[in-house]
Amino acid sequence: MSKRDYYEVLGVSRSASQDEIKKAYRKLARQYHPDVNKDDPQAQQKFAEIAEAYDVLSDPAKRSRYDQFGHQDPTQGFGGAGGQGAGFGDFDFGGFGDIFDMFFGGAGGARARGPQRGHDLEYELEVDFEDAAFGVEEEIQIPRTETCSTCSGTGAKPGTSPKTCSVCHGSGEQQTVTNTPFGRMVNRRVCQACQGRGQIVDQPCPDCRGQGRRRVRRTVQIKVPPGVDTGTRLRVAGAGEASPNGGQPGDLHIIIHVRPHPLFERDGTNVYVDVPLSFVQAALGDEIDVPTLDGNVKLRIPEGTQSGTSFRLRGKGIPKLGSPVARGDQHVRVQVMTPTNLSEEARELFRQLAKELGEQTHEQARTFMERMKDAFLGNA
Ligand SMILES: [Zn+2]
Ligand SMILES: [Zn+2]
Repeated sequence: MSKRDYYEVLGVSRSASQDEIKKAYRKLARQYHPDVNKDDPQAQQKFAEIAEAYDVLSDPAKRSRYDQFGHQDPTQGFGGAGGQGAGFGDFDFGGFGDIFDMFFGGAGGARARGPQRGHDLEYELEVDFEDAAFGVEEEIQIPRTETCSTCSGTGAKPGTSPKTCSVCHGSGEQQTVTNTPFGRMVNRRVCQACQGRGQIVDQPCPDCRGQGRRRVRRTVQIKVPPGVDTGTRLRVAGAGEASPNGGQPGDLHIIIHVRPHPLFERDGTNVYVDVPLSFVQAALGDEIDVPTLDGNVKLRIPEGTQSGTSFRLRGKGIPKLGSPVARGDQHVRVQVMTPTNLSEEARELFRQLAKELGEQTHEQARTFMERMKDAFLGNA
């Protein structure tokens, strides 16, 4: 319900002379005249606003009432004071119009006040594990509604121009005014003649059949920043659907889905990898190659490493989204592989090994049994 102050609309002071008002009006009218602003759908609206302001401020009687009561002149509520002329007919009466609409479903949600923003679009983008970590540029194809480039959204055949709707005079709204004992009620609805566009197209644009918008498949470049994860949402401002009536386009929301990796698992910024270790490597220690996002690195496995032990490679994880300098770690879990399919010679060697280790293994087993006993018998 924010109607701009008439003086503000014309850009003059409240004490402006009739001459100043006339001058300001002429200047603005030339600037926003719909005939010279075919490409700007908002010029129409602006022009109507300027004309309305001038209509009131150029008439001393209307101006003094406006100075006194602003946009909500109570004398207008009862059809008095002779003010049913052009300018005053456009006022809402203190919000009654809205209440009326609510009860009677008047214009409902289709109210043509100001341009509507275009719809947002959503797109699910699958990215590779490495690309999610380090960022990537993707080109995607999205079907969306765009302003028709042939007619620049006017809907008129090139070379022709839409005419101001004669029913609503370009406002896109139709009003019905009812005088009731409570006051004058204004009910507004979308103009049926022009569907709220404020303009009528005689010769429609052949490419959009007069709609001013077209369905196209549009290629959009997406910059995926380093550190995104499944569920991360990216917003591409203005890449959504075009507005149906000259407003801002909607946004495009990209929802990231990271493809699983054959080796790496991810938890936040940390990467996990399982590395098999031979029985001998685990027992004697070794230096092994471990795959990381930055390529293979050497990892020293100390003598006597147990299966399931985890080693940390600091800073080899995923960059943090928004601050790619900070990186998580990579955790290397080793799995000791028990040898299988032994040859008879190998079996013999293991038996010898068992004899050699006999004392030690026996000792370990004994300690274990002892601890079990303690645990079950408690504090004996
Ligand atoms: Zn067109
Ligand atoms: Zn109309």
